[in-house]
Amino acid sequence: MMNPRERIEKEEAERLSQFAAKATESQGRVSETAPDPIRTCFMRDRDRILHSKSFRRLKHKTQVFIDPAGDHFRTRLTHTLEVAQIARTISRALRLNEDLTEAIALGHDVGHTPFGHAGEFALDEAIKELASPTGPQGFSHSEQSLRIVEILENLNLTHEVRAGIGGHSKGRKDLSDVDGEAVSTLEAAVVRISDRIAYLNHDLDDAIRANILSDVPLPFRHFGTTHSERIGNMVNNAVENSMDRPSISFSSPMLKDLNLLKEFLFENVYDRYPDKYRDISKAQGVVKELFFHYCQPHHLPDGFDGIQGAVDYVAGMTDRFATSEFVRLRVPEAWNTPR
Ligand code: MG
Repeated sequence: MMNPRERIEKEEAERLSQFAAKATESQGRVSETAPDPIRTCFMRDRDRILHSKSFRRLKHKTQVFIDPAGDHFRTRLTHTLEVAQIARTISRALRLNEDLTEAIALGHDVGHTPFGHAGEFALDEAIKELASPTGPQGFSHSEQSLRIVEILENLNLTHEVRAGIGGHSKGRKDLSDVDGEAVSTLEAAVVRISDRIAYLNHDLDDAIRANILSDVPLPFRHFGTTHSERIGNMVNNAVENSMDRPSISFSSPMLKDLNLLKEFLFENVYDRYPDKYRDISKAQGVVKELFFHYCQPHHLPDGFDGIQGAVDYVAGMTDRFATSEFVRLRVPEAWNTPR
């Protein structure tokens, strides 16, 4: 008799598109383990990521707005969940592997530093200032995401999930290469496109919440009148243009408009945020100071070593842990007269 996993694998073979990654065709793990009786390899990877400590730390990491006092601003965790939700919808519509999609989505941002991109730039700069001939030469959050799942948490994930996590970030580059660039699986391409749908929409929404923008600018009103309608239209466009094709893409008018929205957000939100939030340089100072502190001998906790250890330790911190470590290390405690 078939166990539940074998039944799911059989259903995948019958139900999924010819372009989907099937669990039975996975290239496998670095260290082979006995298959689970209930879950396919991709379902298992999703669970491994969800149960990891790095995943839980996302709740206190910045998305765009640093350690926001307002409860409704996105954090790295809520961003990740929004990406996973959008990506699963697209995957299911295209009959791709929803479990693989979800695993990549949940792991795609675990390598982010405290304080968002400001923290990432600071850490990269600090590593370059140190210019160690044998240590790391810079910092990239997508490479760090891979280091976390492969080495630091040693999750022993499948090749497909690791490839999807390692190749997701494009920064400010043109969004058109989301489908032009070689992707490991269509599920990885779905996560990439969903990451963009999620952040363009929630950053617009959060920028209005933060009074950086007063409303959705006129040229972007045609995306929809509400947050939900805007996401829905973008998702529909991606699904319509990718159905039964070996690539994931938007229509060219949609892609053009999304690129305009992205440029608009860079100019009016991300690049202007430091003028509104003066403490951003303090946050960067905290990251650098912590990194240089932990580069010194015997400062790192057990399990971390050398300059790479300092990078791993500082990059793994949440905003609030970085701040409290900085206070503990650099701000004197009040003198209490011993009794
Ligand atoms: Mg992301």
